[in-house]
Amino acid sequence: MTTPPFDDRDGFIWMDGKIIPWRDARIHVLSHALHYGGSVFEGERIYGNNIFKRHEHSARLIRSAELIDMTIPFSVEEIENASQEVAHVNNITDGYIRPLAWRGTEQMNVSAHACSVHVAIACWEWPQYFFPKSGEEGGVALKTSRWRRPDPRTAPVQSKTSGNYTIGTMAKHEAEAAEYDDALMLDLQGQVAEASGANLFMIKDGAIKTPIPDSFLNGLTRQTVIKMAQELGFELEETRIMPEELLLADEVFLTGTAAEVAPVGRIDDTEYKTGPVTKQLKDAYADLVRTKDKNALSA
Ligand code: PMP
Repeated sequence: MTTPPFDDRDGFIWMDGKIIPWRDARIHVLSHALHYGGSVFEGERIYGNNIFKRHEHSARLIRSAELIDMTIPFSVEEIENASQEVAHVNNITDGYIRPLAWRGTEQMNVSAHACSVHVAIACWEWPQYFFPKSGEEGGVALKTSRWRRPDPRTAPVQSKTSGNYTIGTMAKHEAEAAEYDDALMLDLQGQVAEASGANLFMIKDGAIKTPIPDSFLNGLTRQTVIKMAQELGFELEETRIMPEELLLADEVFLTGTAAEVAPVGRIDDTEYKTGPVTKQLKDAYADLVRTKDKNALSA
């Protein structure tokens, strides 16, 4: 079965304050964002009618915009409420929510001061992000990319701005062309950074390590999993990891809102098993996202 294109689906999209039919959510080709990369987005998951980390995602959308000099004309609370509303009108209790903000059509050169800023929020079902080519049990296969994550002085690395994703797309294409599922990206110093859209953790002798997020997005799932692992009593260190150290890991997994906790089965020619630590954290995360108790672990 082929999936329908994203502009030709039933349902509703929230756009600049109004709920409109899905197919009517259109923009003009002379939108600044389309030419100069001036857009930011979020990816959220709704579980049992409850958007996990709803506030944090909406706040990050606004922060992502600030980091690229763009002011979103809605408050965190308005974005939160609109996200919940768009899930509701589409009858989705378990799915993925995509808020997007972009620069409009008032100016057409590198400067964007005159441009209006627009926001849209869509929602669809997306049960699973990774479909490992080797099958579910095999885990995600990563290929080390020739594309590096940028120096934080050359890109707004903590902004989910579309411009940053061009490199991710190239890295992912390269990995997929070689029959891998995703790219492993290093930073400019050759240290392990992340995958194209998910953060990375490794386990060695029961202790967990994850790279310091100074050249890539400090994901909300990453932050949740760190807190969760520490509360479960694991030793966890945020540190520099070189690829040679990753080769010796017992287990490796990725984290992301869409990917959740995804075991890695292979990096280049090295194979990894989905071990007990990954399994425990994957299950704990699956429980956590469905608990509404604000006092629950890491809530
Ligand atoms: N890195 C990149 C490049 C991403 O796009 C994402 C997904 N937003 C992540 C990491 C994971 O972030 P989060 O856990 O906040 O979804």
